[in-house]
Amino acid sequence: MPLLELTDIARHYGSGAGQVRALDGVSLGIEAGEFVAIMGQSGSGKSTLMHIIGCLDRPDGGRYRVRGQDVAALDSDQLAALRRQTFGFVFQRYNLLGGASAQANVEMPAIYAGLPKTERAERARRLLDELGLSDRAGHHPNELSGGQQQRVAIARALINDPPVILADEPTGALDSNSSAELMALLKRLNQAGRTVVLITHDAQVAAHAQRVVRIADGRIVDDQPADRAQAPAPVTAAPAEPATVLLPELGEATRMALR
Ligand code: ADP
Ligand code: MG
Repeated sequence: MPLLELTDIARHYGSGAGQVRALDGVSLGIEAGEFVAIMGQSGSGKSTLMHIIGCLDRPDGGRYRVRGQDVAALDSDQLAALRRQTFGFVFQRYNLLGGASAQANVEMPAIYAGLPKTERAERARRLLDELGLSDRAGHHPNELSGGQQQRVAIARALINDPPVILADEPTGALDSNSSAELMALLKRLNQAGRTVVLITHDAQVAAHAQRVVRIADGRIVDDQPADRAQAPAPVTAAPAEPATVLLPELGEATRMALR
């Protein structure tokens, strides 16, 4: 059973002659541990698809199952709980709260999840440390570079230890260095066991994934392993990054905190 399974999903906006079929019969299964890029031009339906995958929106037709659970059977509170437990979101424009510090931004989803104050503060601080932002915890988003803001957004996406990261054009507003750093970070998260769904219109960015799904006019037109997935593994092992070491451990920290 795939972790995420979309069957003939439709999402339409408006009605009559002006109706936009943003998704028009999308079937897609994503297994736990995959790193999937969803590629397509602007307006092809990528963000609509991500909103449905992330349970931020409901489809008009078809069936969406998360771990076999049909989301249509859930009321809005149950859907919100499933969303919190399953998905961490990263957006092109970071979507940080401008009036809050990096630390407070990272803690935000843990408040909704009911994590006690001291636990979430500690967890946010560790994530910021891991992402090289320990000296920026008190800074507001407008005092941070784009790359730093996106790392704060990644820390926020990880605070509830979700198994799936959904990233919608996460490098779209970054320079090439920050972009490369962010892709390396997403890869490490995937190697540490997280499922990553990356939305992009950029083939170079998509080449970091194991699998590339192409969408056009609300339909999947191609679904293949990325070429890189078939390339031999690099001979030289990269030095152990703190993030790969700590991130699985954080799951344990949360479980202990919840206990
Ligand atoms: P992408 O992320 O690939 O650029 P979107 O999923 O945002 O594409 O949009 C797909 C199509 O649906 C586009 O034609 C867009 O204009 C339309 N669309 C998206 N959101 C809405 C909305 N809230 N109301 C009406 N049309 C929308
Ligand atoms: Mg979009």
